[in-house]
Amino acid sequence: MLLAQQQHLVKSGIISQEQIDDALQMQKTEKKGLLFSLLAVEGVDAEAVLQRLARIYKVPYLNISDFKPSEEILKKCPEKLCTDFGFMPVDEQHGELVIAMGNPMDFSALDALQFKLGRRVKAIFSRPDIIQKKIRELYQGDAAFEDAMSSLEDDSSFSTESDEDTNDTDIAALKKGAGDSPIIKLVNGIMVQAMKMGSSDIHIEAGERVSVVRMRVDGRLRAALKFPVKAHVLVLSRIKIISNLDISNTRTPQDGRTRVKLWGKSFDMRVSTLPSMHGEKAVLRILDKSGLSLDLDILGFEKLADQRVRECITKSTGAVLVTGPTGSGKTTTLYSFLHHINDAESNLITVEDPVEFQLKGINQVQVNPKSGMTFSAALRSILRQDPDVVMVGEIRDEETAEIALHAAQTGHLVLSTLHTNDAPSTITRLIEMGIELNMLASSLNLIVAQRLARRLCPKCKKKALPDKGFCERFGLPDGVEFYEPVGCKACMNIGYKGRLGVHEVLYVNERMKELISRGAPDGELMQAAREDGMFCLFEDGLNKALAGITSIAEVMRNSSAPEDFKFEGRLDEGGALMSLGESMKLRDAARITASVGLDRQTVLIVDDSKSIRNLVKFVLQSDGFEVLEADDGQHGWDVLQRLSASIDLVVTDYEMPNMSGLEFVKKVRDNQRFDGIPLVLLTSRKDEDDEVFGLDSGADDYIGKPVEPMKLQARVRKVLAMYARISAAAQGGNHAGN
Ligand SMILES: [Zn+2]
Repeated sequence: MLLAQQQHLVKSGIISQEQIDDALQMQKTEKKGLLFSLLAVEGVDAEAVLQRLARIYKVPYLNISDFKPSEEILKKCPEKLCTDFGFMPVDEQHGELVIAMGNPMDFSALDALQFKLGRRVKAIFSRPDIIQKKIRELYQGDAAFEDAMSSLEDDSSFSTESDEDTNDTDIAALKKGAGDSPIIKLVNGIMVQAMKMGSSDIHIEAGERVSVVRMRVDGRLRAALKFPVKAHVLVLSRIKIISNLDISNTRTPQDGRTRVKLWGKSFDMRVSTLPSMHGEKAVLRILDKSGLSLDLDILGFEKLADQRVRECITKSTGAVLVTGPTGSGKTTTLYSFLHHINDAESNLITVEDPVEFQLKGINQVQVNPKSGMTFSAALRSILRQDPDVVMVGEIRDEETAEIALHAAQTGHLVLSTLHTNDAPSTITRLIEMGIELNMLASSLNLIVAQRLARRLCPKCKKKALPDKGFCERFGLPDGVEFYEPVGCKACMNIGYKGRLGVHEVLYVNERMKELISRGAPDGELMQAAREDGMFCLFEDGLNKALAGITSIAEVMRNSSAPEDFKFEGRLDEGGALMSLGESMKLRDAARITASVGLDRQTVLIVDDSKSIRNLVKFVLQSDGFEVLEADDGQHGWDVLQRLSASIDLVVTDYEMPNMSGLEFVKKVRDNQRFDGIPLVLLTSRKDEDDEVFGLDSGADDYIGKPVEPMKLQARVRKVLAMYARISAAAQGGNHAGN
């Protein structure tokens, strides 16, 4: 539409200048011509505009909404030509082709079209939007099909297993029925493209008009191509043929397998079909054996976690569990563990559903509930086969859990997966399933919780500060940088390429055993594990983001931050995150160093009651002491072992869960290393009878509760003075001996 024509329409009052402006704006993004946009502008009287334009053009106007040209004419005009030039063939008159166009005055287009068609063309005027709609209807997307085909690359190295199976006449016959070569080419092309993109799954879904092929790359589905829905049945039949499914059955779901060859490699595919509204949906999962790396180093565990994993999977007994949602790479991790311990001297058996990869030297059993071969039944028979290592694909029920953990207790290394969110909740999940606390405490070695985060594309990632909310929430210090995705050719504009594991490795030490056997809640297990050096999923992810391998967005998507998480005191000199345990040790050490400079003595208070700890702390600090805390005997024992050189005296409660005060005192006194550390027992009045017993056990003094501040200060000073005298005398004695 020319400017003069626009002005004419405005002058005649059919449209306003604003409407023209709107249309011009719209045209910029839609690129379908001004008239097309104008007809879509609100308040435009389409009929009036069209009639007036027809008069200006001096070309007849034809409403083609209900018009259907003959098949013969349609055949003469390929769909692509119609779409490109925006016309629809209407009729033939005196050797001329009559076409409907939205812009019949575009003579250069008409010239080009005449040249392409090799005949004279006469244009009449029609609504451009209706023309476009009619083209789609009349041709049912032949152009889309051509597009789909042309976007697919042929790869001569590609073949499907059934293609090699030339002897099978049934299949040959069916193949014929499934359509001719364009369909085979389309299906092959889809597979080749999927493998080039490195995708794990292909989804083929029928819509109303077109079928859509989507591919999962690095965990996310992306639309790959479309083809006309009329080809859908043929495509599905072709897929069913190559995966040995029944092509006549379209009403029930089916599962099959196929194997294709590309670039000299074999790819196994698991195929499943599902009836849905517009036709069957097919999902092809690509099981790329050659791409599966089973090297432990590649899993990306941080140092301590890696060490603990290696220790636990080479033990001859106990359970190692891997946990996480579907698609978090649990199976790959388990296979890597198996691969690492696989040697000729051990008998390794797996029970899986399904067996995803065949591993050399390992007996793999497929679960089959229909024939009674459930996880638990298979596991029972396996245990009679004298295994050293048993891998159970998944623990889903109490029975399986019970047998697996019992096996772990009785001289087998058991590997398995569970569907839980994090490592501590795996323990509570097993307890909910009905596993006995003591059995759990004595059979568990290690739990790995896992997620897959996307790896930033190294070619295009760029440095960036996290958003303000993140910085404020976690107290991010200045100068710490992260990276964010950009998108380039190498990563198909996604900004990410490949994935990496994010882990939380819970190591079952003595303290953890204690906590498990008294049924401690998730939060307590988590805290204890983090104090013991575990990075939770969030922290491990953060470390990988700090190293520039992934982004903060990926970390936040895959994990949630511990409630109390702050960066303060958590970054080491190299800018990496330290574990909570590590940073606590540093903090304690720093505090002690500071107190040494001031010539202050350090007291460790062990009590399960926070209010008593606070009181003792307050009283002793105001008397010039440095105070460390532990919330039970086990914890106190941990602190003492770690920091014995800097602790001058221990005050411990008498009654505590886990390790009681008495046990704690005995344990300390049984260990010569701690001979120089005085112990004071806190007892309540009702325990007075036990005081003698307490002193017998090795405590140096006792203080009755409720604690009286003056008395506490005096007793602590008295005991310390006594030890100082003993120590001086011992040194004097040494001198005398010389
Ligand atoms: Zn990139």
